[in-house]
Amino acid sequence: MPRYDFRCRSCGSTFELSRPMAQSDEPAACPAGHDDTVRLLSTIAVTGSAGAPRPSGGGGGCCGGGCCG
Ligand SMILES: [Zn+2]
Repeated sequence: MPRYDFRCRSCGSTFELSRPMAQSDEPAACPAGHDDTVRLLSTIAVTGSAGAPRPSGGGGGCCGGGCCG
């Protein structure tokens, strides 16, 4: 049975669950009982900017885009 990593957005803890692949997208409560959790993709290292959401249309966008020299 595959294991999935979850992260709780309420307390920030991460935890693993073993569950059938068919239930991989079902909500999982964290060990502290919160249900505001997200499933992490185990094949992607979430160590930094790779997993950070990009700001969408919110100001600037020049620096980092290659147009600032
Ligand atoms: Zn929690």
